Amino acid sequence: MNYSNHNLSDTIVALATPPGIGAIGVIRLSGFAAITIADEVFFGKKLANQPTHTIHFGTIRDDNGIILDEVLASIFKEPKSYTKENVVEISTHGSPYIQQQIIQLFIKHGARLAQPGEFTLRAFLNGQLDLSQAEAVADLIASNSEAAHTVAMQQMRGGFSNEIKILRGELINFASLIELELDFGEEDVEFANRHDLKTLILKIQRLINNLLDSFALGNVIKNGVTTVIAGRPNAGKSTLLNALLNEERAIVSEIAGTTRDTIEEILNIKGIEFRLVDTAGIREATDQIEVMGVAKTLERVRQAALLVYVFDVTTTKLSEVHADLAALNADKMSTLVVCNKMDKINDELRKMNDEWLNQIKDSSFIIHHSSFITVSAKQHQNIDWLKENLLNTVVDGGLNLEHTVVSNARHFEALQKSHDSLTDVLHSLDNGVTTDFVAMDIRRALNHLGEITGEVGVEDLLDNIFSKFCIGK
Ligand code: GDP
Repeated sequence: MNYSNHNLSDTIVALATPPGIGAIGVIRLSGFAAITIADEVFFGKKLANQPTHTIHFGTIRDDNGIILDEVLASIFKEPKSYTKENVVEISTHGSPYIQQQIIQLFIKHGARLAQPGEFTLRAFLNGQLDLSQAEAVADLIASNSEAAHTVAMQQMRGGFSNEIKILRGELINFASLIELELDFGEEDVEFANRHDLKTLILKIQRLINNLLDSFALGNVIKNGVTTVIAGRPNAGKSTLLNALLNEERAIVSEIAGTTRDTIEEILNIKGIEFRLVDTAGIREATDQIEVMGVAKTLERVRQAALLVYVFDVTTTKLSEVHADLAALNADKMSTLVVCNKMDKINDELRKMNDEWLNQIKDSSFIIHHSSFITVSAKQHQNIDWLKENLLNTVVDGGLNLEHTVVSNARHFEALQKSHDSLTDVLHSLDNGVTTDFVAMDIRRALNHLGEITGEVGVEDLLDNIFSKFCIGK
């Protein structure tokens, strides 16, 4: 469907609960005729005569008078509903058969099946939510950690869009004064105080900069952190993965190079999801399958945000650790170097190993590019310390969600474009460019700012945004 040419006069219907058998199911109707249509098939009190926000018991009967179900009907009269339209929600018994029959009956009586996200689209088009809030509804439904939930809730309740709207309003005032100057043509008049205009632009840019900075965290909260565990065969990668996850998922084996394919598991540390990928070992590959495994490791590392390099302290030389880190391009990304099998170091070996470890810790690579952690994956020693280090690589200094966090890539892009076009306005002002060009730059900035909240130029985006919602939302 074309969301931008949306017809608001239809009454739409959909199942609002997940399909399948459940205790109850909720069917939602929204539109001008929602209550009238419901009254045609609902037998109990006449819903149209009831006050808004009330619930009524009754039966739904088909056109032959056969009772399809005993239900509860909740009514919300416009404009006091999610969509700002008349809304009826019918709670039925949770049988897919009953629900389908009732939905078909509503369609027969004039409703149309809703598209994914269409209820929320209407909430947006009717001015209940701005676009960034509508998008947050989808994030809220998808949120599966405390942090993701906090960020989505913040955004749905207005988040930064209110601030953007106020500042954009101030910029519009300046824009109209400048347009007025243009009307005076040849005359040398200045209605818009250039100094005040610059001050406002710098203020907006400061807000935008803070929001842009928050995206790194927002993105991590929403999408998690792809983390690759790499190292030589038998370094203890699978054992470490199990220790982190605290369960026996990956296959641990004594034979070198047996973890041939990759395994992905989710580790949740304080609300941030680390998607851990255990890879085949790096080493001079001899057989064909192993060659594929090694190539895949390097590919995975390239795509990951974080690298955990594991080595066996009892068998690996310093030069080998360095060679591996170089092969993995570890200096180009966040890296944790994990020295494993510390439990195997007995007293005799310890002295020798201490020297060795100091050498590694002091080596310029570790100092400049990564954290160094000693563990025993098998004995679960220092695993919590490793987890803390994982978290610190993405949220240095702890997770702070008191300030608004941008988690949506579309908002990030629009904010970037707004920032750039505001910089153009500043340049134009500083370089004494003619008023018509300044006016053009300001208009562009206003458009980009308006894209965030959906005030301007979003028709093309609506399809993309709302088609990702589930049906009934
Ligand atoms: P991978 O090939 O890197 O995935 O290595 P595995 O996790 O399969 O481990 C290889 C062998 O080393 C297994 O026998 C593990 O039990 C053993 N191992 C792994 N971590 C440790 C450790 O911290 N201490 C000791 N003593 N053995 C370990």
